Amino acid sequence: MSTNTANEPISINANREAGTITIDWKDGHHSEYSAVALRWLCPCAFCRGEAGHPGWLDSMPTLTPEQTQLVAMRLVGQYALAPTWADGHDTGYYTFDALRADCNCAECSSRREVQP
Ligand SMILES: [Zn+2]
Ligand SMILES: [Zn+2]
Repeated sequence: MSTNTANEPISINANREAGTITIDWKDGHHSEYSAVALRWLCPCAFCRGEAGHPGWLDSMPTLTPEQTQLVAMRLVGQYALAPTWADGHDTGYYTFDALRADCNCAECSSRREVQP
């Protein structure tokens, strides 16, 4: 799936208590995401909308603690992560390419500012 082998995780850790997800990438890069930030990135059709219709997250809802609480995480094939949230939502497939693109470490953030 991925054309960029750097976007392959070698280890994925979900810390449910802290609400953080950390990924170590094949190229040595390290990313850390908060569960809340990941929930806002949910790429599923319900959250993001489809066929030109805005999704649920586009309405800027107030997320409940259940909606941002990570209860499980599973791998989808070799290309994506699918978290399960405490409200039962589990249809968002976060591809590794997208996760890497959304890395918010200082290095990636500054690179994005230079090349928006
Ligand atoms: Zn979703
Ligand atoms: Zn980064």
